[in-house]
Formats: sequence, C-alpha cells, structure tokens
Amino acid sequence: MTPAISLSQVRKDFGKFIALSDVTFDISDNEFFTLLGPSGCGKTTLLRLIAGFEDTSAGTIHLYGEEIENLPPDKRPVNTVFQNYALFPHMNVAQNIGFALKMLGWSTDEITSRVDEMIDMVRLGEFAHRKPSQLSGGQQQRVALARAMAPRPKVLLLDEPLSALDLKLRQQMRGELKTLQRETGITFIFVTHDQEEALSMSDRIAVMSAGKLQQIGSPNEIYEFPANRFVADFIGETNLIDASVTQVSGRRVTCKLADGETITALAHQDLQIGAAGIVSVRPESLSVTPTAPMGQSLTGTLGDAVYLGTDTQFTVHLDQSLELKVRMQNGVTDGAKLTAGDPVFVSIADGAARFLVD
Ligand code: ATP
Repeated sequence: MTPAISLSQVRKDFGKFIALSDVTFDISDNEFFTLLGPSGCGKTTLLRLIAGFEDTSAGTIHLYGEEIENLPPDKRPVNTVFQNYALFPHMNVAQNIGFALKMLGWSTDEITSRVDEMIDMVRLGEFAHRKPSQLSGGQQQRVALARAMAPRPKVLLLDEPLSALDLKLRQQMRGELKTLQRETGITFIFVTHDQEEALSMSDRIAVMSAGKLQQIGSPNEIYEFPANRFVADFIGETNLIDASVTQVSGRRVTCKLADGETITALAHQDLQIGAAGIVSVRPESLSVTPTAPMGQSLTGTLGDAVYLGTDTQFTVHLDQSLELKVRMQNGVTDGAKLTAGDPVFVSIADGAARFLVD
C-alpha cells in the first residue's frame, strides 16, 4: 500500500545551521504517528516541510505517492492544528469550523451538514454559537480539531496541540484524540516532547534528536528495545552502565560491567567480543533482595529509599562510583523492610537488560 507520507533523505538548513539531516522514513495511511524529541530537535520543522510552510534543502517528500515539492500549502491534502489553536476570535464555533469549507467553495447545504457533523463529533453541540473567548481551553482545542478535520484532509498535522491544557485535561484529550483518529481514519502526525503522551496514543513513534532520526517503532519497541543511549535515556527512566562484551551467542551477549560483575543482555545488532557500549536496564525490571535470588543478580549496598505512593525507589551502590535505581511496587514485595547500608542483591528480570552500542 502506498504510504501516506514518504520522506527520503530530507534535509533542512537555516543558513549554516542544519535543522534536519538525512531524514528517511514512511508513515502509513491511517496511522497515528508521533514525532517525539527534545526541544529544538527539528520536529516542528519537519511538520512545516510536510505542510509546505518551508522548503526542503535536499531530499524528497511524497504524499500518497505524489511528489509535493512544488505544491503550495493550500493544494496539499494536509491540514494543521497549531499549539495556540489560532481560532478566529470574531467568529462563533460553527463559523470557525465552516470557514475553510466556504473558502473551498462548498455549497451552503454541504457546509451546514459538515459543520453539524463535526460539532457532534467533538461534542460541542451546545456551544455552536459561542465565540472562542467564551470557551474553556479544552473546548477551544476541540474547535481547532473540528475545524482542521472539516475539509476531510488525508493527513492531519498536530503541533503540540495539548501543551496549553492542564494535566488532567491533557490526559483526557489523549483518549479523545485517539478515538477521533480511529473514527475518521485520517492519518495523524502528532508532534510532542512529552514521552508519556507519545507512548499512550501512537501506533508508531519516531524519536528525534539534533535533527536526526534516532529510532522508529511502536511504543512497546521504543521502550523495551531502545536503539541507542539517547532513546533509552529519553524514553522513561533507565540505568545506564558502561560495559564490554565478553561472549556472544546470537543477539544474547555476556558483558562485563564497569564494577567488574558480569551479566547477560540482549543486543540490538550483531556484536563482536570486545565491543564496548552500555547496558540499559529499567528500574522496574530490578528488585532488591537481602538473599541471593534465582536468575541474574548484582551485589551492592542499599542507599536511600524514596516512597512514591504506588512504588518505592531504591538506590543501590554497586561500588563507589556506580549506582542503580530500583523501583518496586509497594504492597507486593517486602523491599521496604531493608535499611540503608544493608548488603543487598539486585535481581534482574529475565530478558530485561539491553546492550547498546551508544
Ligand atoms: P520545540 O519542541 O521547542 O518546538 P522542535 O523540535 O519543534 O522544538 P524546531 O522548531 O523544528 O524544533 O527547530 C529546530 C531547530 O531549527 C532549532 O534549533 C531552531 O532554532 C532552528 N530553527 C527553526 N526555524 C528556524 C528559522 N526559521 N531560522 C533559523 N533557525 C530555525
């Protein structure tokens, strides 16, 4: 099937500054696709290239198989929802939603019927005649979504659309956005720097850093099998320990950690003995026990314990310079009975450690 968007070797320079380089990937039709990365990594720039607000410096962008280089923004089957909504303040909800349809030359009947449909879809029936200033942030956000989806774009670009909302509303809107995407079948390209937002909504995520693509995958792949140090560190919390490979068996490697202990880990690529890198292991894959557990473990001294409600986070010192964060669910284990200074074992869940070549 032809991808919705196909990016090939896309590059964007602003003067001497390289904002994007060698960006190559496809976005499937009907996908909820997220561009995720820290501030300044080039997410918005990539969105603007797809929308046609900026020109590429090199490379090509295809939209449903068609090269869009020379297509002006208003001729692309793409619409954008901006961070600040950009609603027309003097128009009411229905007029805001219908405006673009009028510009596109739709008939009055078609506009009325589509506006009603969109108002129902975003559950704003009772607010159709209110102006944006008479709506809450979440309601304004829903108007912006309805307005952008009204002309039936094939692709909807969403640039941090939830960032102006408070946390509770943001969490609620995540579910609504996902439902809207599923119901309309429009391909969503969603930009965020919030990893929880990305993990909770996306079919696939592209993780970016400093203008480069770092990894593409489902939320589970990105979290469980990060491709490199940046991804492991940026998505969720992890422990990163310098290590070198001492034995190789397919993708399973035995490696020596910086404190001299040895563990086995899964690698992302084929490796040779002697390869240097890091072991990444998530705090929730570790547990602290006073006695030697079955399976893989490391030894250390218990540092502090921080009570976090559902979990307790322990620090374990493997040696003077190396420490691990361990997260254990409260009420399930007796980890909380240990006290600082105790010698402890840190048990590693089966298959949880990853070896990454930086
Ligand atoms: P944020 O999450 O903060 O919005 P972002 O990942 O969307 O960040 P971009 O807005 O794409 O980042 O910017 C990427 C880089 O390109 C930044 O360093 C930015 O300063 C630079 N940049 C963006 N637009 C221009 C421009 N018109 N002229 C010069 N530099 C620009």
